[in-house]
Amino acid sequence: MHLITLIPGDGIGPEITKAVTDIFAAAQVPVQWEEQNAGQTTFDQSGELIPQALLTSLEKNKVALKGPITTPVGKGFRSINVTLRQKYDLYQNVRPSKTTDGIKTRYEGIDLVLFRENTEGLYAGLEVWDEHNGIGDSIARVTVNGARKICHAAFAYAAKHGRKKVTLAHKANILKVPGKIMLDAAQEAAREFPQIQYEDKIIDNMCMQLVGKPEQFDVIVTTNLFGDILSDLCAGLVGGLGVVAGANIGDDMAIFEAVHGSAPDIAGQGKANPTALLRSALMMLHHIGEHEQAVKIEKALELTLKDKAKCTGDLGGSASTSEFAQAIIDNL
Ligand code: NAD
Repeated sequence: MHLITLIPGDGIGPEITKAVTDIFAAAQVPVQWEEQNAGQTTFDQSGELIPQALLTSLEKNKVALKGPITTPVGKGFRSINVTLRQKYDLYQNVRPSKTTDGIKTRYEGIDLVLFRENTEGLYAGLEVWDEHNGIGDSIARVTVNGARKICHAAFAYAAKHGRKKVTLAHKANILKVPGKIMLDAAQEAAREFPQIQYEDKIIDNMCMQLVGKPEQFDVIVTTNLFGDILSDLCAGLVGGLGVVAGANIGDDMAIFEAVHGSAPDIAGQGKANPTALLRSALMMLHHIGEHEQAVKIEKALELTLKDKAKCTGDLGGSASTSEFAQAIIDNL
């Protein structure tokens, strides 16, 4: 039995988390959940944004499944997600995007995995507001060590999973310092993995290429902000934010979470698609070595996705979150 920390989050978090735990229970996956929360919900209850009990649970279990957490825009507390990623050095944000039978998109044959550096760049938290002069600074910190770690992780993943190519997305023509650090780190990793083809692309061209001919990409590695934006773009290519998984991985701990946020516009209405969180949970199962269970649930999910009527509204169906989860359970 694997003990896993479960963070339901807020907004649509609790609804999609329940869908996933119901599916896991029906599939008799050998995990035991240890539920802990963070964010506005715990702040309202106890005055703590990230309760110590959550940190203790994470440090003990080393693996968590997390629902989305709302972050106030332009004011208020710093993102809980960014805080956890930095505190536990979860330097890899891994986001696969794959076209699936049953999810209609304009594209076919997309199967790419984005490696986003998860602790540095413009998300390093180095922000200064000079009220007197009306100047706002945000420093993009890229370290040689951080760049080496994320580039190495992308190439090691490519080698392990039989992938052919790694593409570095950067803006080294303008942001010369962080760009050169990333280029050097990627070239170093490419020398270590000569069986993997390597190329680099400037981020603006990368966006155009991704929209025009996404099937040319395999593994992509990039800095934090570019990765945040590119991963939503990639989600859009394969069916939207409701269907793509994500993982925050460090050398010692991993937190699995959907790419999407707390979707306050549909929270509490039973409209949320649980696929993204379910797929994140399946990445988690692979991470803890429960490959067979992961494959079994992915098959039930793919079967369900082919039956539009049983899917949620974002996929063209009319089912509620719980009805969709039940349809997946029926297909197990
Ligand atoms: P969002 O991802 O929450 O929503 C964007 C759009 O996609 C909305 O129209 C929403 O209804 C839709 N959507 C998202 N997930 C869906 C799902 N599972 N099923 C169906 N439709 C879905 O992005 P946002 O509105 O920009 O952000 C809302 C809040 O979430 C913000 O506070 C943001 O900071 C936070 N956020 C948290 C995380 C995280 O916890 N990892 C990630 C991104 C955003």
